[in-house]
Amino acid sequence: MSRRSRSRMWIGAALAMLMSSFAPVPAAAQADSGGGRCSGGYVAITFDDGPTALTGDYLKALRDAGNIRATFFVTGSLASASPDGTRRIAAAGHRIGNHSYTHPNLVALDAATAFAELRDTSRVVRAQTGRAPSLFRPPFGSTDARTRQDAARLGMTEVIWTADTVDWSGIPAETIVANALTVKAGGIILLHDGLPATLEAIPGIVRGLAERKQCAGRIVYSEEPVQAWPGLTFHAKAARW
Ligand SMILES: [Zn+2]
Repeated sequence: MSRRSRSRMWIGAALAMLMSSFAPVPAAAQADSGGGRCSGGYVAITFDDGPTALTGDYLKALRDAGNIRATFFVTGSLASASPDGTRRIAAAGHRIGNHSYTHPNLVALDAATAFAELRDTSRVVRAQTGRAPSLFRPPFGSTDARTRQDAARLGMTEVIWTADTVDWSGIPAETIVANALTVKAGGIILLHDGLPATLEAIPGIVRGLAERKQCAGRIVYSEEPVQAWPGLTFHAKAARW
């Protein structure tokens, strides 16, 4: 072995040590750079029921946690009440999904009213961001064949969830983190906009995912059906952005 390759080896070892001393930095949470950092797969972080007065703080928390990208399922009524919220979500690189206009139980509505809930929300989002949503989440996860057909007619894939944090129920941030981290690779975490405890949980969720070498991903169509709960499947999963 030549002296030169020996010294290269030494430099390599020193570099590896130097890099490993930086490893705890939540770089783990940033966009995939192709290392082994996302070897545990991708999970989608989703926030329903915005935009709200806290949306800007959520966007900052996601940025501070390592430029994490998420999907925000907004309602048409809130989006039209705060167009700036929707624009900021989109401008920060997050995806916007359709969560109906007034958050009703869609399956209980007559056909025309139910369709209008979806159509009008897609119109608002497109007017505000230049892009109509391609993802749809029914309020309460309440859906049926007609609802799915309405979504498909508007070019949207129905997205339920695989990890329900029940963050709306008044539980503390650490419980929200624990609930979020029950997610499996490819899964989708349900969170809500506008909740201080959820905002507080964001760094912990990102850290927990990073420890498992999981990265925040976007939501894509899944050929394989995914079970939300017994009796309900959907066709969406998390994948690399
Ligand atoms: Zn909702």
